[in-house]
Amino acid sequence: MELLKNCPSCNSTSYKTRINGYDYFLSNEEFIIVECNECGLNFTNPRPGIADSVRFYDSADYISHDTSKKGLLTLVYTYARNFMLRKKLSIVEGYSKGKNILDIGCGTGEFLNFCKKKGLETYGVELNRKPRETAAKNFGLDIREKIVDFPAEKHMFDCITLWHVLEHIHELAPTIESIKNHLKPDGALIIALPNCSSWDALHYKKFWAAYDLPRHLYHFNKKSFTKFLGIHQFKIIKILPQVLDSYYISLLSEKYKSGKNNLIKAILNGAISNFKAGNSETGYSSQIYILHPEIS
Ligand SMILES: [Zn+2]
Repeated sequence: MELLKNCPSCNSTSYKTRINGYDYFLSNEEFIIVECNECGLNFTNPRPGIADSVRFYDSADYISHDTSKKGLLTLVYTYARNFMLRKKLSIVEGYSKGKNILDIGCGTGEFLNFCKKKGLETYGVELNRKPRETAAKNFGLDIREKIVDFPAEKHMFDCITLWHVLEHIHELAPTIESIKNHLKPDGALIIALPNCSSWDALHYKKFWAAYDLPRHLYHFNKKSFTKFLGIHQFKIIKILPQVLDSYYISLLSEKYKSGKNNLIKAILNGAISNFKAGNSETGYSSQIYILHPEIS
């Protein structure tokens, strides 16, 4: 375990305990979320070091969904996945010039392959070797281990995307700085994140599935994310809701809380969360931030 003395966003040494939670998904081990007294960032502390992290991802469910099986859940999953692919591409096309794209944490490359088929020039970063090789083998994609493996002299991007990835990355500040070095001055950075101030987060407390301890190292809300972006000279252009996430997260959270599937309650709470988000500053369960570099 790695104990952070400083806030990974603003470097302050002052923080307080906010939540004692568990890894309900896999290990059942206890983890603590602390809140920075300076910038308000919630972060998992202590957290597994990079080498120790592997065992918390050691589940077939977490890495990929097997779509070869037939059944209602697979059908729903396939439908939702295709819906998401189309939605992500429309956001990329709507908010960037969209000529070339770098997807960070691209996994096995389904989204990049979808972009490639629509005529974009595609590049990916994936830390884990297995999905990286699968993406290269299945789709012939150019996937590298780290952002810096794409030299900035040769590779500048119109669009860089991180779909629920930033909260998993140990080296937070170096990552956003590398991103800045690879984004064209008129490029767009698109980051999807869970929102720990959403109604469902406040409702489920330590059982909120999007804390996903200890895989999620940071738990941003709009305020703490805005401060983090300010430190690295990015500004928010637009925030888009991910309205399906509140249902999915409520379904998982119900299971963590009661040990049972409770579809009705999950649908109800997912709907309440979306309704409250549409009427307040707290925001949706998950949100997509469209960002531009500040030109100095
Ligand atoms: Zn801080």
